[in-house]
Amino acid sequence: MQFTDLALHRSILEAIKEKGYETPTEIQQQAIPEILKGNDIVGCAQTGTGKTAAFAIPILDIIHPIVGSAKKRKFIRSVVVTPTRELAMQIQENFDEYGKYLNTRTLVLYGGVNQNPQVDALKEGVDIVITTPGRFLDLYKQGFISLDQMHHLVLDEADLMLDMGFINDVKKIAKLAPENRQTLLFSATMPFEIRVLADSFLKNPKYVIV
Ligand code: AMP
Repeated sequence: MQFTDLALHRSILEAIKEKGYETPTEIQQQAIPEILKGNDIVGCAQTGTGKTAAFAIPILDIIHPIVGSAKKRKFIRSVVVTPTRELAMQIQENFDEYGKYLNTRTLVLYGGVNQNPQVDALKEGVDIVITTPGRFLDLYKQGFISLDQMHHLVLDEADLMLDMGFINDVKKIAKLAPENRQTLLFSATMPFEIRVLADSFLKNPKYVIV
């Protein structure tokens, strides 16, 4: 299978080509068509398998028509929750690379720093937020985040978020997200608590195991 076999917008295909990728990895081959169909996904995959592109590429493909021109008002369409600032920044890089010919605007939120620049960026408007759990809830509680137009919730490295004690924050975020959203959960391992999380917050998910 080649990337061109996936029904992706040509500007995303162009960005993938410029990165030098021809063949989707195993998780990408399995997950991208399911996500494009609108299905919830549980992806059991380690870092290094290409799992970031497996969710970033189809999310960009789904949201780019509603994002429209750069001048249009921006609403948060997708929220990616991940355990660390470093992971959040790597995920943003992926979205920005694959979305380089689209008008999508991404923002990373994390704790331990002054919140004002993050609040200013939220006020300007963004399409995709990549965040650690605590700071997201802080900013939400202060009224700086609206999820009315949210389409996708990605829970990345779910087992690591469990190990780091973020599971209750993750559940709170899942409860705040609109009922009709699409949810994508990725985890290297599938401990009991992650299965419970998937059962309670995902709708009839497709399991993709690599
Ligand atoms: P990840 O598992 O998302 O951390 O990705 C691991 C590495 O694989 C990253 O450096 C990606 O840029 C790279 N990568 C992702 N998809 C592909 C692909 N289809 N072909 C070659 N490399 C890829």
